[in-house]
Amino acid sequence: MANCAQCRTTEVVIEDLDVQPPRPWCLGCATALVRAGDPVVNYRTLDGGDEYGRVLAGGSTAVLPFR
Ligand SMILES: [Zn+2]
Repeated sequence: MANCAQCRTTEVVIEDLDVQPPRPWCLGCATALVRAGDPVVNYRTLDGGDEYGRVLAGGSTAVLPFR
């Protein structure tokens, strides 16, 4: 699986569909965007679950499984 476009070290969990080509993000970087107030809202999950969706729903109070 591809690595994150930002940190390039972590496996991606979502793709941002608002940019072309779609930009892959790992959970850590995507969560950083949520906390920065600029969350990815148009995305598709790549990890088979929706870990990021829970972060998005929980906002900055979400507890992460890893950092
Ligand atoms: Zn990353």
